[in-house]
Amino acid sequence: MTGNKILVKSFGCLPLTEDERMVNGVNMKTFLEEVNEKINGVPLQRCYHCRKCTAGCPLAFAMEHNPNKVIRMIQMGMKKEVLGSSTIWLCASCETCITRCPNEVDIARMMDVLREISIAAGIGAREKNVLSFHEAFLASIKSRGRINEPFMMVDYKLRSGDLFSDMGMGISMFMKGKLSLVSPKTRDMNTIRKIFDKTKHA
Ligand code: SF4
Ligand code: SF4
Repeated sequence: MTGNKILVKSFGCLPLTEDERMVNGVNMKTFLEEVNEKINGVPLQRCYHCRKCTAGCPLAFAMEHNPNKVIRMIQMGMKKEVLGSSTIWLCASCETCITRCPNEVDIARMMDVLREISIAAGIGAREKNVLSFHEAFLASIKSRGRINEPFMMVDYKLRSGDLFSDMGMGISMFMKGKLSLVSPKTRDMNTIRKIFDKTKHA
C-alpha cells in the first residue's frame, strides 16, 4: 500500500489494518479508533455536533464536559483529558442521548467504553463513589444473581467510606417496608457465573 493510501485511511475514511498501524514497531492506533473499536457500532465520526444529545441529557448541568464535547475531544485525541474527566462517571446510562441523536451515535455505550479504558489504564475513577457503587452492584449480582438493596448499600458504604450520609432516608424507607432484608436468590447461578467469566469481571 502506498503512503498516500495510508494517509487517506488515517483520516477515518477507511479503517487501518493492524499491520498498517505498526510504524517502527509502535502501534499508531488513534484514541478515536480505540474507542470506535470497543463501541463496535456507529462510529463517532458520524456525530455532526448538533448538540441534541446535550440538550436532552439530564446530567449535563453537572458534567465537566457536555456529552457532544466528549465526542469532539475523542476526535481530537485528547485521551488524558477525557479519561481523567468526571463526565464519564456522571453519565447515568439513561440513553436519552441516543434516543435524540439523528445519527444514532450511542453515547451511553461510549461512556461505558471510556470507563472501561480508564480502569484498564490504571487511571481509575475521578468520581470514586460512583465506581464504588458499580462495584457493590456487581458484587451483589455476582453472589446472588440479583440485588439485595440493604446489603448492597452496606457494601457500598464500606467500599466508599461514606458511612453516615443517607442514613435517615435508609431508616425511613426500611420503616415503610420499602427495603426488604430477604431477597430470593436466582436459581440459575450457573448462567450468572458464565456471564461474569465471559466479561472477565473479577
Ligand atoms: S445528537 Fe448525535 S449528532 Fe448531535 S451532537 Fe449528539 S451525538 Fe452528535
Ligand atoms: S446516557 Fe449519559 S450522556 Fe446520555 S443522556 Fe443519559 S446521562 Fe446524559
